[in-house]
Formats: sequence, C-alpha cells, structure tokens
Amino acid sequence: MPLLVMKFGGTSVATLDRIRRASKRVGREVANGYDVIVIVSAMAGKTNELVGWVGDTSPLYDAREYDAVVSSGEQVTAGLMALTLQEMDVPARSWQGWQVPLKTTNAHASARIEEIPTDNLNAKFAEGMKVAVVAGFQGISNEGRITTLGRGGSDTTAVAFAAAFGAERCDIYTDVDGVYTTDPRVTKKARKLDKIAFEEMLELASLGAKVLQTRSVELAMRYKVRLRVLSSFEDNNENAGTLVCDEDEIMESNVVAGVAFSRDEAKMTLISVADRPGIAAAIFGPLSAAGVNVDMIVQNISEDGRTDMTFSCPIDQVARADAAMQAAKDNGDINYHDLVADEEVCKVSVVGIGMRSHAGVAAQMFAALKDEGINIKVITTSEIKISVLIDRKYLELAVQALHDAFGLERAA
Ligand code: ADP
Ligand code: ASP
Ligand code: MG
Repeated sequence: MPLLVMKFGGTSVATLDRIRRASKRVGREVANGYDVIVIVSAMAGKTNELVGWVGDTSPLYDAREYDAVVSSGEQVTAGLMALTLQEMDVPARSWQGWQVPLKTTNAHASARIEEIPTDNLNAKFAEGMKVAVVAGFQGISNEGRITTLGRGGSDTTAVAFAAAFGAERCDIYTDVDGVYTTDPRVTKKARKLDKIAFEEMLELASLGAKVLQTRSVELAMRYKVRLRVLSSFEDNNENAGTLVCDEDEIMESNVVAGVAFSRDEAKMTLISVADRPGIAAAIFGPLSAAGVNVDMIVQNISEDGRTDMTFSCPIDQVARADAAMQAAKDNGDINYHDLVADEEVCKVSVVGIGMRSHAGVAAQMFAALKDEGINIKVITTSEIKISVLIDRKYLELAVQALHDAFGLERAA
C-alpha cells in the first residue's frame, strides 16, 4: 500500500469540530487508497499552558518531569482523532511515542530522534488498520522515560516517520496555506511561495520562521522526504501549499527568498574581561554547560589587555547565563567588571541562496534599515543569510522595510 504522512498542528486540532475536519481529510486519503500515518500536535494553546504550569510549580524544573507533563497534550489529541476516525468507520488506533517506540536521546526537552522501528505499525497495517494516529513531539529515552523534541517538534516527528516508512509524501497541515516570504501576520504583502529550497527553509526556520521546526527540514533534506506545507482550512489540490524541495527543482529564484525574525532575544555584554588566550573558552564553555544557546558573538577591540565580550541568547535564558557567569567569576575562571543584559532586542534576517552569487545584499539591507532610522547593534553573516540585532520596537518596521527593499511582494 502506498503510504502518506499527514501532520496536523495545534490550530488544526484546536476543537472537536476541527479534529472532525482533519479526520475527514484523512478519510479522503484512505479512500484514495493510502495507508496513513497521522501525526498530531496538542490542541492550540495546550502546550503553552502545560509549560506554564511546570514553570509555576518549579522555576528550575527537572526536565524529565517537564517532559512527563508537556507531552500529555498530544496524548489527548491522538486518542480523540483515532476515536473520530473510528466513528467514520475508518480503522484507526492511536500510538504514544513509547508504544511505537520512537527512540530518542536522553536530552530532555530537546531530545533527538535516534530510531523509529517500523515493525509494530506495519504489523497493524497488515491486519487492516488504515490509519495510525501518532502523538507528535514525544518519544522514549533509553532510560525508559518520556522525552520531548523541543517546541514545534511534531513537524520533526512527521518527517522522521515519513523517512522511516518511505512515505510518498509528508504533508504538514497548518493555519497558513504555505511558506511565505515572511510571516504573513507581520505584513499583508507577504507572498506564498510555490516552492522553496531545503537550504533556504532550513535557514528561515532556524532564524525564527516557526512554520516548520528546523530539525524537520534537516531530516527532510537528508532523507529526501517530499515535504509540503498546506492549509488545513482550505480545499487543496495536488499543487496546493508550498513544496520544500531541492534547489534544482526550482527554475528561478529571487536573490532573497524571505525575511525571518526572532522576537525574544537578549544581548548580554561582559564588561572589561581580561583579553588572554582561552578567554572565549572560559566564557562560552560554562554558558554551553548551563544550556544557554549562544547565537551571535562579538569581541570588542581590547584596550590595556581588557575587552568587552557581547553575545546574544534567547531572552528566557538570561537568568541561566547570568548564573553561569557569576559562578565562573566566583571560581576565578573569568574576571569581569559587570554583566549588562539588554532584553529589548530582536533579530531580523534575510535569507536566500542567490546571495552566493550576488554581491551587495548586505549593503542593500543596511541601507533599508538606515532609511527607517533603525540602529543595528550586532551583525552576523553566512553564505546565504545576513542577520542583525536591533531594538525590538522596530521589528515590524524592519521586516516590512526589508520585504519592500528586496521586492518580495513580487515573489511566487
Ligand atoms: P502549527 O501549530 O500548525 O504547527 P505554527 O504556529 O507552529 O503552526 O506555525 C505556523 C505559523 O508560522 C503561521 O501561523 C505563521 O504566523 C508563522 N510563520 C512564521 N514565518 C512564516 C513564514 N515564512 N511562512 C508561513 N508562516 C510563517
Ligand atoms: N505541541 C508542541 C508545541 O507546541 C509540539 C508541536 O505542536 O509541534 O511545541
Ligand atoms: Mg508548529
């Protein structure tokens, strides 16, 4: 039997009615002759609520218990979807991560998938099950504990199942009808792309476009999964949505494919650290050990053997970063005058594989920001992206200005 993976995000399963609508879509694919693996998220808002409960109970929580709590949202939707399908006379059953079992590393709250054995599901398909409804976002560690894959992780569950089972396609149903040139909630000028290259999608996702989890794009690229993003609210034909595919499947692309942003960033500066060999290791080693995801790094010019070191990290990691630096100072591993956190910044990035062969994109980006009077605090670049850290109050303005500057409203 040909097999499809269909993933429904939180808004697509937010109510019983929406679960019914999603189930009808699944039923249609079964009628078309497919076996289907459905991956479900928790109902919209549920995971946030669970995360909030954990934080309110224990601010520096045990990540194993965090996973026990936050994985529960998907358990509910998987069971409800299986019941809905059964009501429609479609043979279906639900699967929790541990029942598959979807095996992961022990890195609680951000576990990576290690293996998805196919025998359990395939045995049930052979017995006549048409739909396996699998709880997304969760797995089991080799210590036998429930793990989760990081926020947005159901996308990764879906692609990993598509790869493991050799699915014909992996369809990601969400609340927008595809991947846009930027978040359509920020500017009405955002345009849906018919196709986007894996590498561009990877950058956009890792720079904040949450329409797909970064890991899911990585896996799709590695295992050549045909990955499509489409709306669960509209009727779709074969060409609906956005296909995430190899670069050479795209005839002609813009120099800049899209603009991504990450709203909740913080900029931290260690003032007056001794500039000596090993200082970067002495700072960033403890930050990494404390689980701080350092992003941009700038070391200033040093004067009299002392320098300032600036880095950015997600805003909810400022307390951890602060504690790690204070501990390193107390141990005598580093010595600094002060640690200043600017929690009012955001990161805006432009992405495009065309940048490899086009000069001047950075200059054009900086000019567009200058014209709006936006000051740039930190810059980083790579082959196909340029990111800037700016004041958060300018986020929307910057995204719109860059969208205009690179003519993205004419993209398709
Ligand atoms: P789901 O619950 O289905 O997983 P998400 O909220 O995780 O959905 O992702 C979909 C959202 O991603 C959209 O509602 C949109 O606001 C946001 N988004 C950000 N950047 C983009 C982009 N470039 N294209 C499409 N959507 C984007
Ligand atoms: N429910 C989880 C989250 O909100 C996983 C997902 O929906 O992809 O992050
Ligand atoms: Mg998501």
